[in-house]
Amino acid sequence: MADHTRALQREAWAAVVGALPVPAALVDEAGCVLVGNRWLGVEDGATLLRHNADVAPGLAFGADGATRWRVRPLDKTDDSEAAVLLATAERLHASDHLLRRFFSSGESLFVVYDQAGRVVESNKAWENLLGYSADEVFGLDSWTLLPPDDLTTRARVEADLRDHGRAEPVFQMRRADGSFRLVKWALHFDTTVGRCFGIGRDITDEDRIAQELHRRATTDELTGLANRSTFVDALSEALADGALPSVMFMDLDNFKVINDSLGHHAGDILLAALGRRLDDLAVSHDSLVGRLGGDEFVVMLRDSTVERAIGAATETIEAMEEPFLLHGRSVQMHLSIGISHAVPGADADALLGEADTAAYEAKERGRAQFVVFDSQLRDTVNRRFNVEASLRTALDEDRIDVMFQPIVQLPGRGVVGAEALVRLRSHDGAISSPGQFLDVAFAAGLMPRIGRRVLELALKAGRELIDADRHMTLSVNLSASELGQPDIVDYVASALDHSGFPAEDLLIEITESVVLATDATIPVLHQLRELGLRIALDDFGTGFSSLAHLRQLPIDVVKIDRSFVADLERDPVTRALTASLIDLCTTLQKDVVVEGIETADQASAVEQLGAHRAQGFLFHRPMPFAELHGLVTNANRVAHELVL
Ligand code: C2E
Ligand code: MG
Ligand code: MG
Repeated sequence: MADHTRALQREAWAAVVGALPVPAALVDEAGCVLVGNRWLGVEDGATLLRHNADVAPGLAFGADGATRWRVRPLDKTDDSEAAVLLATAERLHASDHLLRRFFSSGESLFVVYDQAGRVVESNKAWENLLGYSADEVFGLDSWTLLPPDDLTTRARVEADLRDHGRAEPVFQMRRADGSFRLVKWALHFDTTVGRCFGIGRDITDEDRIAQELHRRATTDELTGLANRSTFVDALSEALADGALPSVMFMDLDNFKVINDSLGHHAGDILLAALGRRLDDLAVSHDSLVGRLGGDEFVVMLRDSTVERAIGAATETIEAMEEPFLLHGRSVQMHLSIGISHAVPGADADALLGEADTAAYEAKERGRAQFVVFDSQLRDTVNRRFNVEASLRTALDEDRIDVMFQPIVQLPGRGVVGAEALVRLRSHDGAISSPGQFLDVAFAAGLMPRIGRRVLELALKAGRELIDADRHMTLSVNLSASELGQPDIVDYVASALDHSGFPAEDLLIEITESVVLATDATIPVLHQLRELGLRIALDDFGTGFSSLAHLRQLPIDVVKIDRSFVADLERDPVTRALTASLIDLCTTLQKDVVVEGIETADQASAVEQLGAHRAQGFLFHRPMPFAELHGLVTNANRVAHELVL
């Protein structure tokens, strides 16, 4: 086709794009109208259709060779007709020009299709985006630009155009080089001209950024699993749909050890590998796996039962039997799993919280376990929650108190020392014993704070007694978490310094379980001893009761547990055992204190067995410091007076 012809054609099509209505007066009986110096065919008697390139009277053919128009020359003799036609032609020409400029400028894609979806006009932006030349574009079936499998989009768009005259689809459009661009279209079908007009915008990059932002917002970077918010959303959605999902909350046992010993990079590799393993398992369970952060993973089993969840948890625990490979080392890991199951009306956060609580309980019970959340666990949790809250406020408001239980000499029952025992004072003055809150304090990590306050109060009390001219040993209990504090030795040293209480009068009580908690404890005990204080092994006879410990541990005093005392009178075996224990300790040059003496018979029994120190309700119950002060300073005075 000659360039000239092409140019003319495009110009005419620009007018078509505008769908310019042609005043009926200008259309001749043959359906033609003169525009400028050209005759144009008119369809439906109203709209410019297609111009004839080589205007001549008679029959003319369109560029496709099929379209034909009847044309006639302008009747130059009729001035008025000529003038009107000329004016109209100029107006049309001006709009045509404006439209063409608008059409071809800018980045927006403009395209016109015929009813079969063939391109009849397009602008430069459209051609550039899809990589076709203007020649290739003309007559192109636009539907062939869509991915071949995207038939639904086509059907929907055709239906929308047919029913509403407009559609706003987003298409993946195939470029000439085979790649795809994502284009958002506003399509409008004009029944007057039988054409579809489209204005499009290339949103490929925009979409990529949006998708990346979405991915970041919804997935966990390290594992690619759902993150917390996605998981909670999915759980909420499942609940809203009426499903009754189960949630498994998983926590790696001893993950900290990996991080500390092999480094954070190894820790990350492990978490990613665990994520893959859980995700593989999830495929068989119709479930969603997420990572909440750290070593906490969660799984939602969509429509589940407790039995199904237990099955999945068992499978997950089994799947952990295969070791992970970290920096060439094979590492065996275990998971603690908590299971919660939705009841109608359940809420996602609560369900997740219950599974978390059950996982916590599973961890408490030992490694590689699962626990199902139930109402009993709920009560335990509520209690823990309340106790922890009141402990924290008690600490903040300095309502941690200490009672002192005297330790007496046998025979004679003279007070030779006192054990500081923590108490919690409530606002109304009620006192709680350690049995009511120590487990929660341990679990909540509050023990170091509590222990420091107790040590401070005990040393202060000891100092006051010295000021009252009464020297005695003060015992303070120390838990594993306190001994595990990196600065414990420095702290005890400075507390001693600060109080002015002599180190040799301080007795630190620990239990065997404290010693066994970590390998690091024994060196700490040695360092504490180097400060000049002494160490007592508390509650001996409960738990491990290892005689080897008596020999090997850096301890000065053994406190024989009250369970021995209780059986002393009626059980000859216990009696014999206690006797040998006291003997052994004497041989090992350890002082012995027998705890829990409640009756005079018990007192004389232990005395007969050779014990020289005892503690128990028979002698004194734990008492406030003022009472102890009165007791021992009075005794001091009495003793003094007796001597005089
Ligand atoms: P413990 O160190 O063995 O302390 C002795 C416990 O036995 C005290 O209970 C005391 O009141 C009780 N007791 C003393 N004599 C008798 C008796 O004749 N009969 C009976 N039935 N009981 C007697 P308490 O004060 O309730 O303390 C319980 C445990 O809590 C302590 O056992 C100790 O393990 C721990 N504890 C107390 N205060 C502290 C503290 O400040 N820090 C740490 N880490 N633990 C503490
Ligand atoms: Mg004790
Ligand atoms: Mg004890």
